[in-house]
Amino acid sequence: MNESEKLFEKAKTLIPGGVNSPVRAFRAVGGSPLFIKSAKGPYIYDEDGRQYIELINSWGPMILGHAFEPVEKAVRDAIQYSFSFGAPTRKEVEMAELITQMVPSVEKVRMVNSGTEATMAAIRVARGFTGRDKIIKFEGCYHGHGDSFLIAAGSGAMTMGVPDSPGVTKATAADTLTAPYNDLAAVEVLLANNQNQIAAIILEPVVGNMGCVLPEPGFLEGIRTLCDKNGVLLIFDEVMTGFRLAKGGAQERFNIVPDLTTMGKIIGGGMPVGAYGGRAEIMNIVSPAGPVYQAGTLSGNPIAMSAGLAMLHYLNEHPDVYSRLEEVGNKLTDGFRSALLKTGLNYTINHVGSMFTLFMTERPVTNFSEAKSCDLPLFGRYFHAMLNRGVYLAPSQFESLFLSTALTDELVEQIIQANEESLTEAITT
Ligand code: PMP
Repeated sequence: MNESEKLFEKAKTLIPGGVNSPVRAFRAVGGSPLFIKSAKGPYIYDEDGRQYIELINSWGPMILGHAFEPVEKAVRDAIQYSFSFGAPTRKEVEMAELITQMVPSVEKVRMVNSGTEATMAAIRVARGFTGRDKIIKFEGCYHGHGDSFLIAAGSGAMTMGVPDSPGVTKATAADTLTAPYNDLAAVEVLLANNQNQIAAIILEPVVGNMGCVLPEPGFLEGIRTLCDKNGVLLIFDEVMTGFRLAKGGAQERFNIVPDLTTMGKIIGGGMPVGAYGGRAEIMNIVSPAGPVYQAGTLSGNPIAMSAGLAMLHYLNEHPDVYSRLEEVGNKLTDGFRSALLKTGLNYTINHVGSMFTLFMTERPVTNFSEAKSCDLPLFGRYFHAMLNRGVYLAPSQFESLFLSTALTDELVEQIIQANEESLTEAITT
């Protein structure tokens, strides 16, 4: 047994399934998960000292690669002033100012500790603001593990085959209505059948959590119009897309203004952080400005704020980051497409900017049921073939890959090569 395998065996006796978040367990792809010791730039290293090229990047936040020097330095500098005060700090004000500059639909923002907290708070605020109880979410979108969202949920819930989790009460589940992604007509029906009852529509403006799925032209615009017509708040969950698909997130890229936005891991530069924000009129109902309660001892934690501020300042001041991410995304997916042509496979690649997924299906993938048509055993073989060639992919078909500016052209070529060999291996074994 290697070190990772030994650790996993022990972990399983101490932690449910041996991991602190389900997808990490490699259940969907088989085998034993890598236990990670360190990461730097484009590489991640396991407990056995093996090096891999990173295409997960902590599920999104490492836009600039691992342990990016300005972020590392900011954390080192901050540590000498202690680690948590549970009191207001200058950095929180700077963070709020920077977020509101970069994402103009966000006029006021509240920091929390995870994406899950951000989405839970956002729907509470939407309910408090509208005085309505129900929400609409889309099948296969993942918004963290709050009870209201574990209904037709994507990501790990989809990978583990439990999109509707036991433990969520029937009453809670009844307040979450679901529609297929990209299906405006289905949303119209839900709105018509639940008039004056829907507080919010929440969605990933580009889905990362059933694999990468793009909004079809007109979908986001249509949802915005339906929200306006029906007095429903539109919540963009930009935990994955925020500050990644553009400086101002997917809302800037697709030019749609949501009422509320949720953000996550990226604004902590990899530290445990989340945030929600939106129009001042709406955010002013949050306690202590207003009656909707939401709080957190570690919210706005000074170390996390320092990491996040360093990261966001860098993104804000270096537009070349975004052109490089586009370039890397285009080069990689072009390379993947030519491998598909060469191998005669007609599989689907969904791609936007620095997010993409190779789906093991010949169908276009625009929603949850299409994503589920993938050949999952084939994906498992492909995943391990890539891992053996030193490329670390998300261990599930139902996740997007995330690129970073740390990927050089040379590494991009290596990944393309590994992909072609892995595809060939996966289809012939
Ligand atoms: N929303 C989206 C779109 C996400 O992708 C995630 C997690 N990947 C979450 C919310 C939950 O964030 P966290 O895992 O930080 O609770």
